[in-house]
Amino acid sequence: MIIEKIAESNFNDSVFDSKVFGKNFSDHMLIAHYKDGKWDEPKIMPYGPISVTPAAMSFHYGQTIFEGMKAYKNEDEEVFIFRPEKNFERFNKSAVRLNMPEVPAEIFLDGVKAIVDLDRQWVPKDYGTSLYLRPVMFATEEAVSARSSNEYIFCILLAFAPSYYEKPLSVKIADFYSRAAQGGVGSAKCGGNYAASFFPTSEAQKDGYDQVIWTDSIEHKFIEEAGTMNVMVRIGNKLLTAPTSERILNGVTRDSVLALAKDSGIDVEIRPISVEEMYEAYKSGELKEVFGCGTAVVVSTYNAIGFGDERAELTPLSDEESFATQLKKKLKDIQYGIAEDPYGWRVKIEETVNA
Ligand SMILES: *Cc1c(COP(=O)(O)O)cnc(C)c1O
Repeated sequence: MIIEKIAESNFNDSVFDSKVFGKNFSDHMLIAHYKDGKWDEPKIMPYGPISVTPAAMSFHYGQTIFEGMKAYKNEDEEVFIFRPEKNFERFNKSAVRLNMPEVPAEIFLDGVKAIVDLDRQWVPKDYGTSLYLRPVMFATEEAVSARSSNEYIFCILLAFAPSYYEKPLSVKIADFYSRAAQGGVGSAKCGGNYAASFFPTSEAQKDGYDQVIWTDSIEHKFIEEAGTMNVMVRIGNKLLTAPTSERILNGVTRDSVLALAKDSGIDVEIRPISVEEMYEAYKSGELKEVFGCGTAVVVSTYNAIGFGDERAELTPLSDEESFATQLKKKLKDIQYGIAEDPYGWRVKIEETVNA
């Protein structure tokens, strides 16, 4: 790995006071080029613009995939990342689905570790704050021809992630638009999935909701995801979530929350959840909680669900009663190095680059 350090760091403590997510980039980025069937040696260099032609194929045909991970610091200034091999596997699954080349572990995993090590002063220490890691790959071949590209850039960017006051959100259940289709690319973290979701989300916002609960694209009868998160539903004392499929992203947070729930003695069921079942549970007072799971916010609770024209308000639960609050705290305590990590999820970033 080639390392070209920045001449003078742009870091100052006021970065950690920022309230914006994904805008305050660290000193460095990692770049690797794929050409003639192989990856070149990755290079860590000062963060900044790169030159790309408007004919680059990703702009036209959308071959672009990404990942989202975080780095955390504990009280002893040790830096950790969380289950990085899961993101690595998923990234390459997305690559295969988009007909892009896979990225080897020596570039993805070693690259993440090296750049987080180098920019470790950018990892904040306050509980709830973190350094967001964004691996991304896009097609760069200069050609306006509808086929897969022969050239790509793989890049890792790092940006401060604040702890924002998490007010409960309201979500509207999709009854017309879809995020993902049977046989489509829903389980890949590819740019087009997000592009396709913005308009339906803005329509839901006009109806007074924050986000959309996506349903199956065939009949809109089963719930699949919420916004860009996996979704969990508590009916009575049972925690339900849909099985992953080619329409549902296999979230690392989802998987971790499910493991923590099972080990806390919560009754967990992974099966399709129908809108009708949710609505009936709401009517009978059994719909206790609905929440989203994802790396950015960890767990996002919903206080109102839109069933067609009916806005169903959920009764807030106390922190002790709420599965969402309990599971979120358990997960964050592991991520921030406060609790034991019986699962071996934390990966410590050793100090080598600066040493
Ligand atoms: C990233 C993402 C998730 C959550 O995945 P995590 O690994 O938990 O961050 C869920 N759904 C969609 C559509 C996503 O893009």
